[in-house]
Amino acid sequence: MSARSCSKVACGRDAVATLTYDYADAMAVLGPLAIRREPHSYDLCERHAERLSAPQGWQIVRHVTVGELQS
Ligand SMILES: [Zn+2]
Repeated sequence: MSARSCSKVACGRDAVATLTYDYADAMAVLGPLAIRREPHSYDLCERHAERLSAPQGWQIVRHVTVGELQS
């Protein structure tokens, strides 16, 4: 298993969660770090997962809480 880093530009911290955009349902789903990279998915570090905000009209679904994430 290779290390994954946050997808935010100029961040570079280890990713702890994966954000997936579901365009059909206007949902941003934050879950445990995905095993595979998928289109429309972004790995995020703990800090960026915590600060996550969705575009207007979108709903954020969190399958993990930041406090449970391993850093
Ligand atoms: Zn980050």
